[in-house]
Amino acid sequence: MPLDRCEHHGLVGYWEVCEHLATALRAGTVLEFRQCWGILLACEDCFERHGLARFDPLTDRGWNEDAKRAYDAINARGDFWCHPCFLAVRLQVARAAGLPDPFRAYERTVTFLRRDVALKIEDELRRTFTVRPSIHGPTRETLVVEWGQLDYPLTITVYYVLDAETQDRIQACVERGLEESGLPEYHLVFMEAEVWITTPGGGGTLGQETVLREVWGGGANAPSTSARTV
Ligand SMILES: [Zn+2]
Ligand SMILES: [Zn+2]
Repeated sequence: MPLDRCEHHGLVGYWEVCEHLATALRAGTVLEFRQCWGILLACEDCFERHGLARFDPLTDRGWNEDAKRAYDAINARGDFWCHPCFLAVRLQVARAAGLPDPFRAYERTVTFLRRDVALKIEDELRRTFTVRPSIHGPTRETLVVEWGQLDYPLTITVYYVLDAETQDRIQACVERGLEESGLPEYHLVFMEAEVWITTPGGGGTLGQETVLREVWGGGANAPSTSARTV
């Protein structure tokens, strides 16, 4: 999914949408749609007319001249739509129609617009606790604070904190940081360690890492699926 800047959501994934879906979204509504190549959402008509069923809905596997022609035909008149803005329209349409929410919506969490709260929590955690450098060097962190979006809450990931007492103190620090924001929902994840598997020839690959403990706080119960929402 390509990235771009949205004034409400910061640097986020964008969908490419067919012209009909774009028109609907601009009017504050949605049409039935289907996904193609993991990047494009097309209305049912476009999906049929361009025979998009012959392509992979989730990846660009098998991308070729045939796929490119179909993509270009839709893209020529289509638009580009911010992922969380798209979710916000879907939520609003479902609620206006009295239907259940189409996904678990986190509306009381720190997002891009309150990133100051996330940054302050990160500063406080770094000041108070020992954060080990990543085994992967300066391109990675073993403490990550990621602000939330409509389909997932503020997420704090911490490696190498193995004892429950320090984990509890980290959780308390996060909750203190959120107290005044009125945005209590968060997801705190303690990871045992980074795992790097060296391969013959001097290279390596990321290995399977172990989750020690997960906290869904402030009423932010886990979503039904961990996959981020379309
Ligand atoms: Zn269409
Ligand atoms: Zn947006």
